[in-house]
Amino acid sequence: MSANLISGTELSKSIRASVTERVKELSAKGITPGLAVIVVGDNPASQVYVRNKVKACEEVGFFSSLDAYPASISEKDLLGHIQALNKNPKIHGILVQLPLPDHIDSSRVIEAIDPSKDVDGFHISSAGALVKGLPGFWPCTPFGCMKMLESINYDLKGKYAVVIGRSHIVGKPMALMLLDKNATVTICHSATVNLKAITLTADVIVVAVGKRNVLTADMVKPGVVVIDVGMNRDENGKLCGDVDFEGLKAVASHITPVPGGVGPMTITMLLQNTLDAAQNTHPA
Ligand code: NAP
Repeated sequence: MSANLISGTELSKSIRASVTERVKELSAKGITPGLAVIVVGDNPASQVYVRNKVKACEEVGFFSSLDAYPASISEKDLLGHIQALNKNPKIHGILVQLPLPDHIDSSRVIEAIDPSKDVDGFHISSAGALVKGLPGFWPCTPFGCMKMLESINYDLKGKYAVVIGRSHIVGKPMALMLLDKNATVTICHSATVNLKAITLTADVIVVAVGKRNVLTADMVKPGVVVIDVGMNRDENGKLCGDVDFEGLKAVASHITPVPGGVGPMTITMLLQNTLDAAQNTHPA
């Protein structure tokens, strides 16, 4: 068997095209979706991420602002900037690039964002809405993974889904989204005993760990669907995921590549959430 690739690059193109169309319709009514991106300090990875997000906004016709603050900014001042963005009618979505410097309480900063502008889906209200199955912004990375499963018309009802990783931004919300679609879900983590015994019976496996080769071909059953969220560098400095892609390709029915898989989908779902936030303020 050679697995079908689920290309996040291709899927992103079609979702971004429909976002662009919707932006044109909204702009004709005088509404331009606006995203404010905040970055603190000079973490090189954060700088790349925020630039990519702002560029993606420009490409679909959003208004965007990039607010870069020095690592020395006080928490109070940062909270003040967020309050101003909360009140700014041109801004429909606010994103604070994590991590923040140690002297700033990330939770306090995220909770300061108006939940109606929480397009990253990290606010406690968004998390609570996801738990309760109520409308709210879904965190972009697991939301993108769900879109990838949807793109292959994968019916999760009754399927056994295993999520490896339990972070607040990927693993936990991922498990809730799979549960919402009637999968039976197990969450694994660093203290899980005999991971292989669990993954061997899974129909779908989402891996979000941040270590190479967490999942290998001998750990899965034939026909499994594998979603690889991980972003690592191999010994040659090349971007790679958390799974043994080449090995799994021979066993899985579908697999996401790295790069070109979940990564582009994360930004795409940020655009979708921002568009939705703008539409919510101007219901048809
Ligand atoms: P994280 O907060 O570090 O969480 C990693 C999770 O993996 C933790 O729950 C940890 O368990 C678990 N873990 C560690 N070693 C394990 C092992 N040997 N077996 C099973 N579980 C293990 O990471 P994250 O923020 O969720 O990100 C995970 C990966 O996804 C990273 O590579 C990150 O760069 C990538 N990522 C990609 C995107 C994208 O857009 N493509 C977005 C977000 C994240 P404990 O809880 O027990 O410590």
